[in-house]
Amino acid sequence: MSSRPLVCPSCATSYPLDERFCPDCRMPLVYAGAQAIEEPLTPTHERVRKIKPQYADGELVRVAGGRNQAEAEFIQGLLLEEGVPSLLRRSAGFDVPDYLAAGPRDVLVPASGAATARDILLQSDLAPTEGSAPIASPWRVAAALLGALALVALIVWLGTDVLA
Ligand SMILES: [Zn+2]
Repeated sequence: MSSRPLVCPSCATSYPLDERFCPDCRMPLVYAGAQAIEEPLTPTHERVRKIKPQYADGELVRVAGGRNQAEAEFIQGLLLEEGVPSLLRRSAGFDVPDYLAAGPRDVLVPASGAATARDILLQSDLAPTEGSAPIASPWRVAAALLGALALVALIVWLGTDVLA
């Protein structure tokens, strides 16, 4: 290994010090271990990075509903692309175990992002998705917040029509 301290940054083949370029890739060789390899952002960091602070203030309000977890997460992704953070919440059926992916979901956003979120949803082609694949849910995060939000959410829920 020490006799071949250079590596091609493209194909990762190692070379001795007297080489300068990878003959296969025509890439200049770099010292192994000296590469500035950035750790890929975790999905969580990626989400946080996208959130615009001006959309993250205020109480959560319901702006949309998904017919299941997958659909709600699709909506959540659309909102996040524009910087609006959101939480998903099981719409009804508090007697249904949380681990079930079925069942409608509310999409809740902070009050300061609600208008933007509604615009996004209006402009988006929210084609129904029938995806039934189980998706890891953000429920642990949501559940931690639900205690404080339950009353507000319930009021919002009672005052809002259910999207069929
Ligand atoms: Zn190469």
